[in-house]
Amino acid sequence: MSLKENYHRVLENIAAACAKAGRPAGDVHLIAVSKTHPVTLIDEAAALGQVDFGENRIAELSEKKSAVQNKVQWHLIGQLQTNKVKLLTSDTILHALDRPSLAEKLQQQFGSRNEKIRALLQVNCSREPNKSGVALEEFDALADLVATCNAIEVLGLMTIAEDSDDERTVRMAFATLRSLSERVATRGIFPGYQNWLSMGMSGDFEYAIAEGATHVRVGSAIFGSRLLSDTESAENPA
Ligand SMILES: *Cc1c(COP(=O)(O)O)cnc(C)c1O
Repeated sequence: MSLKENYHRVLENIAAACAKAGRPAGDVHLIAVSKTHPVTLIDEAAALGQVDFGENRIAELSEKKSAVQNKVQWHLIGQLQTNKVKLLTSDTILHALDRPSLAEKLQQQFGSRNEKIRALLQVNCSREPNKSGVALEEFDALADLVATCNAIEVLGLMTIAEDSDDERTVRMAFATLRSLSERVATRGIFPGYQNWLSMGMSGDFEYAIAEGATHVRVGSAIFGSRLLSDTESAENPA
């Protein structure tokens, strides 16, 4: 399968999942996850009309950002170490704001430049041990802290579901994220909150769309398999 065929099949499957869920096709944005793949493939996908690209390591993202020919929107979807925040620029959207120390560092860096960083709070909705994302019990405390950071503009929430064949288990994590986001919106703590739900990957984006995803992060279904296993590259951004 060529990149072009993969890409169009993913777009069709997203449209079909939207139709099945009774949602307009334009409701769901595709983020093409290009981690480990070369810049030539990013440019190839961009030439097909793809705008949003995701990387899980900030160093790889910044390298690709300066090498890519087309105008694209970058999303950092993997964990960010505080000592690498300096590599992050305000034109990138961060999907992995998962702890108070990162919020403080972001506030420090972007506040001092009079800039804003757009971010999503990442939540461990599946309650797996050692999984990235803030624990559900600690979500409110993190949200309250971030609400005091005027250099962080929170657009929505992000989660990674459990790698499971059980539809109910997978959908439960997505439904949990959706209800958390509704609560955030009701509390009105983030000005300009967009209710973004970044959830769903190659193996589960149809379920995520059924549960209200606005942004799906799809890698291997578009670019083919990676050398690292999905779990390694999703959870160990090094
Ligand atoms: C790698 C990755 C994806 C994409 O995974 P695929 O299974 O290849 O679609 C999505 N989200 C995160 C956080 C990732 O690290």
